[in-house]
Amino acid sequence: DLLISLESVKKSYQQPNGQEITILENINFDLRTGEIVALLGPSGSGKSTLMRMIAGLIPPTLGKILYHNRPLVGLNPGVAIVFQSFALYPWLTVLENVELGLKAKGELPDRRREKALRMIDVIGLDGFENAYPKELSGGMRQRVGFARALAVEPELLCMDEPFSALDVLTAENLRFELLDLWLERRIPTQTILIVTHGIEEAVILADRIIVLGRNPGRVRADLPVKLPHYRD
Ligand code: ADP
Ligand code: ADP
Repeated sequence: DLLISLESVKKSYQQPNGQEITILENINFDLRTGEIVALLGPSGSGKSTLMRMIAGLIPPTLGKILYHNRPLVGLNPGVAIVFQSFALYPWLTVLENVELGLKAKGELPDRRREKALRMIDVIGLDGFENAYPKELSGGMRQRVGFARALAVEPELLCMDEPFSALDVLTAENLRFELLDLWLERRIPTQTILIVTHGIEEAVILADRIIVLGRNPGRVRADLPVKLPHYRD
């Protein structure tokens, strides 16, 4: 089942001196429902830019992005994002932050609360519903980021280096905890795109790896990962 298709996608930016700089060129690949794909590549190769285009936050300069075989216009309704730097609203509580995406989807207040609380419980934030982000550790803040993205039960969960702002131990714990939740089928999404520059993280989490090169970013490799035994 084709979820997303990229066809000859190019992205350029205008530099302040008026010159165009091409970040991504001739990008072609599909994302199918059920895949966990890691997007790898050196810093500056356009991984975040590519993810933002798939989410519909920014348009390609040339080429097409299809969502269920239809050209994507504006925000992608099937995508939720977990950002590297959490992107939480400091003046909202954990519960209110998690409810945001549901609000944007037009869920009614009761249903919104119910879904948000369920996700808060799954993701290990029970008891922190009324805390503010500044009262939480980095790991707990990113849990809020995950809960907010997952509460809407997205078709595609996009993660932009979700662990890189955390210390090594916190990152490792959260990564394995999420993997366990995934294996227990408690993560309400079927398809995942994770941007990372860690090959180890990619191999642990993904069943397919897409590698971008630099200047401009192009797909240098698109490989299956042999599933580790614990995912059989
Ligand atoms: P990666 O995620 O692989 O590190 P990015 O997609 O963040 O790469 O950025 C790729 C390149 O595009 C970088 O050189 C970055 O500075 C540039 N870039 C990203 N966004 C913009 C923008 N809005 N305007 C101009 N250049 C940008
Ligand atoms: P991250 O790696 O956390 O995604 P970046 O530093 O790549 O963050 O980019 C943060 C924001 O700044 C993004 O919206 C990106 O598009 C924009 N940006 C990045 N590089 C440039 C640039 N050279 N000129 C203008 N905007 C940029």
